Amino acid sequence: MSLKLIHKPRDERTESDLKCAFEILFQADGTVSRYFRYDEVRERMNDLLDSLQMCSKSRMMSCDLCPFSVKCKYIVKAEQKLPEIARIGKNLHFAGETFWKRANRSLTEDPLCDELKNARDDNELYRIILKRFFDLVPERSKQILDLASSFAKFEFERISGIFGDLGKAKDVIDEFVKPVHCELAIENYSNDLMGIIDRIDRTSNGEYLLIEYKFGKPKYMDINWQERLITKEISFYKLLLDGNEVYEIERDTFNAKKISVRAPKYGAMIFFQDLQNSNMMFEIEREHIESAEKSVQSYWERLNTGNFKPKPLFSKNSDCMDWCGYYDEICEHNDEWKAVDAVGDIVWED
Ligand code: SF4
Repeated sequence: MSLKLIHKPRDERTESDLKCAFEILFQADGTVSRYFRYDEVRERMNDLLDSLQMCSKSRMMSCDLCPFSVKCKYIVKAEQKLPEIARIGKNLHFAGETFWKRANRSLTEDPLCDELKNARDDNELYRIILKRFFDLVPERSKQILDLASSFAKFEFERISGIFGDLGKAKDVIDEFVKPVHCELAIENYSNDLMGIIDRIDRTSNGEYLLIEYKFGKPKYMDINWQERLITKEISFYKLLLDGNEVYEIERDTFNAKKISVRAPKYGAMIFFQDLQNSNMMFEIEREHIESAEKSVQSYWERLNTGNFKPKPLFSKNSDCMDWCGYYDEICEHNDEWKAVDAVGDIVWED
């Protein structure tokens, strides 16, 4: 029922619609129900419903891992303690995007093109990439420099592979060395999905490759589990590009431009803290896409029913309280918080 309300135009939602949505989203599963009253959140309900109209990759993955974290982040909007690596990752995403965007529309018009072409050997090629990247990184902590070196190594290996396969002609540099898209923001009205794709590259054999960057540590609790998550995350982006109503969103102006991107055949998730073990390209198969579809569906079902029960994740080496930004502040898995009996203890995020 709340799904219909979520997708109902804002000016058609009645008072009883808002109340009904409140009951499902805040009250149905009992997780935080005693801390919220309708009259306190009534003003936010329309904005909240609008913000739930599309599913993103983070929403899908969070819902898979723990539905209660979705409720904390996207419904209750409680403050979370973000690890330092999230801020660092933002800086490096910016540098990675700018690295190629500075190359304007055509890389052949950028001095970088000649520098790459004329590099005498692998060492020089690596140094050129590293220097350009370092110039763009806004801060110089040891951790940032290590991650930036890893990024440069990744680019170096990719570019020297392309040179080896296709040569160094200017059109090769333009078509294969420069990514086809960087930080591509998409809203897809065919299937109500949204997201930002880190990279789409063209491989030496002319296929498209979807790339996701990760600056945190890979979680090697279980390699099969890890692989399942990676293939699902990447396949989400394939769904994101699928359909007739796909729009690129200009990130400064929010202007939308209809686009059609050729379906990528391959995917890869790059963990810059462990480049050696993570740079694995895989072919995106039907089963990976179905797994992403199933998880998106499950996200919508949670919104529809209001069931966001916590799913604490324990393993031999890890407990979600060690890494989840909601454990300390709000989680039902946190006995101390459960003892606090006041709405005022939740800090709202903007
Ligand atoms: S601490 Fe665990 S149970 Fe609680 S919200 Fe986070 S992942 Fe879910």
